[in-house]
Amino acid sequence: MSLPSWQKKLDGNRKVGSMARAALWLATEVGEGNIFTKADLRSAFSDVAQIDRRIRQLRDYGWRIDFSRDDPSLKQDEQRFVSRGADVWIPGQAKTPRHKNSLTAAQRQKVFQADGYLCRSCGIASGEEYGDDDVTQAVLNVARRKVVLADGSEEHQLVTECKRCGSGSGDREVNLEALLELVEDLSPMERRILAGWIAADRRSPEPIDRLWGLYRTLPEEARKAVAGALDDADAADGMDD
Ligand SMILES: [Zn+2]
Repeated sequence: MSLPSWQKKLDGNRKVGSMARAALWLATEVGEGNIFTKADLRSAFSDVAQIDRRIRQLRDYGWRIDFSRDDPSLKQDEQRFVSRGADVWIPGQAKTPRHKNSLTAAQRQKVFQADGYLCRSCGIASGEEYGDDDVTQAVLNVARRKVVLADGSEEHQLVTECKRCGSGSGDREVNLEALLELVEDLSPMERRILAGWIAADRRSPEPIDRLWGLYRTLPEEARKAVAGALDDADAADGMDD
């Protein structure tokens, strides 16, 4: 089966979109399993403004392209063309992005498993009651969350969400770019604590949280004693320096 040339911008008098050309370039020039760089891409498509974006868009059509964050053996500027998806150069094939289609049972299971079978918005598990006045049992769904990536582009990622959290919320969007900036601003100690919560997938109270909880229950005089002890400890640390 021979593919159309990726260089052709017209097929008869039909314009071939840059995403379709990018797909053909991957299939014919790079080849499945091989690595390409942003520079390769840009030199092939010097006439296309946002070719990186077109490549990422292909992922919505079942094309698997790994970045360094997906595959640690890749360098920052490298991407791997893992496998082909829909024949997006054929008219009609590029109409319905994958995120508009329904998921297979296997895809849903994979998302549930990755999310620990918990709603990622409220934490409820399948079949649990909500607890407040609501005695309905939670039903888990897979939602498509629009994520603004670190480079400002958008993609849809799948997340487990219960029916209640999913209803009425509209198309929720998360800004990964802004979140990653906040992570960078953390102190080394805060980063270590956050890494611990992420590894455990839960926020365990730190000694300082437990202390705060206890402190808040204290009568005034006892609270003053704690405040005084803190001051003394600071002064003692000061003398050590
Ligand atoms: Zn929920």
